Amino acid sequence: MKKTFSIGGVHPDDSKISAGSKIEVLPLPKTVYISMIQHLGGPAKAIVAPGDRVKTGQVIGEPTGFISAYVHSSVTGAVKSVGLRKDLNGIQVVHVEIAVEPDEWMEGIDTSDTLVTDIPEDRQFILDRIKNNGVVGLGGATFPTHVKLCPPPDKKAECLILNGAECEPYLTSDYRIMLEKSEQIVIGAAIMKKVLGVSRAVIGIEENKPEAIARMTATVSKLQSSAKGYDGIEVMTLKKKYPQGGEKQLIDAVMHRQVKSMGLPIDVGAVVQNVATSLAVYDAVQKNMPLITNTLTVTGNCLPADRQKNYLFRIGFPLSYIAEYNGGVPEKAAKIVSGGPMMGKAVSNLDATTQKGSSSLLYLTEEQTVRKPESNCIRCGKCAEACPMGLEPFLLNKLARNGMMEELEQNAVQDCIECGCCLYSCPANIPLLDMIRVAKGEVIRAMRARTAPKK
Ligand code: SF4
Ligand code: SF4
Repeated sequence: MKKTFSIGGVHPDDSKISAGSKIEVLPLPKTVYISMIQHLGGPAKAIVAPGDRVKTGQVIGEPTGFISAYVHSSVTGAVKSVGLRKDLNGIQVVHVEIAVEPDEWMEGIDTSDTLVTDIPEDRQFILDRIKNNGVVGLGGATFPTHVKLCPPPDKKAECLILNGAECEPYLTSDYRIMLEKSEQIVIGAAIMKKVLGVSRAVIGIEENKPEAIARMTATVSKLQSSAKGYDGIEVMTLKKKYPQGGEKQLIDAVMHRQVKSMGLPIDVGAVVQNVATSLAVYDAVQKNMPLITNTLTVTGNCLPADRQKNYLFRIGFPLSYIAEYNGGVPEKAAKIVSGGPMMGKAVSNLDATTQKGSSSLLYLTEEQTVRKPESNCIRCGKCAEACPMGLEPFLLNKLARNGMMEELEQNAVQDCIECGCCLYSCPANIPLLDMIRVAKGEVIRAMRARTAPKK
């Protein structure tokens, strides 16, 4: 029987309209604007100034703390400015503006297509390459990968789980890389498995992607029979259910272990990485290639079939440039979302630029976005049934509306993963997620303030 997580979940329509579109390389724009905040943790500090000339792959931002990451130039050219510019959420962030010239790559980066299957022996060499090449988690969180691969000494990793679920409707970038870069992803998995010292790595893919399952399975067995270091890697077909790609849900599906409230995957011996992160690890370790590219889906029901695309972009490309290259924002688009329709963020600013973790430009129509009128809760319990974290959204909503912070914490609002399953299921159209998200933020801030060291 196919596995899945045990609590809650919903079944939104797939809408993987762009699944058949092969990855196309976007041409370079005239100017790129590279953000110094493309990861979780401290922002990078820009180390270039106007007038400097930079090469493709050169470090332009240095980490500012333990949890932070290097940022590299995605192009060759002259630095025009270093200053504040609005990001995707309309927040002012330091960006490096570069006038683009033809590529001149930094020395030491292997830009060839040669596949490198031998896994380096030296663990520290691998970690240094991942850190120095600015690799961060590409499943949404953008947590620095070298930190995640070094669990604290009192915790022991037992299993690496690669997230190939791509359970959000519409998104197809992970699907395409599993078809087109399967070797690199499996080699990346073997590298991370070695660093973690675990004997097992599971690549979890949902049943609605049979071609990806077949391709990844064939690649695993080819590498297992032709090179060393690939034992213990397997592909697991998962039942389709949203949000299978949530870390805690994937661990439950694959290992049948539950991460406790406010706990971490490593507490139950798991380390979860996205398939796109695995590809970035391959590039960083085997080719010394910094994380300056990723794949992004441009899609939506209001886009004609020949404009449903998966593009290879470089960081710093204006979203407006990508939209224009794709033929312009469709007339019927009422909302543009970065990420999927369930957990993605509304794009308030098309002048914002691509980041390491960018995954889509999704065009939604008025019909798809209009909120239906809210009515009273009928106590049907559908929201609680759907919640994959075992919460009671109707209760959290009530507590949030009444500002009952203590009770919200007691009822674990802090565990909400903002998946939107409750909102999706509610027949009364109550904006459960909006209320719960705000309350969660306040409760977490209060919890942090309580545990922060006194000055
Ligand atoms: S958004 Fe939060 S409360 Fe709602 S279903 Fe998801 S985890 Fe549960
Ligand atoms: S799904 Fe909506 S109507 Fe049903 S119990 Fe939850 S909040 Fe109330």
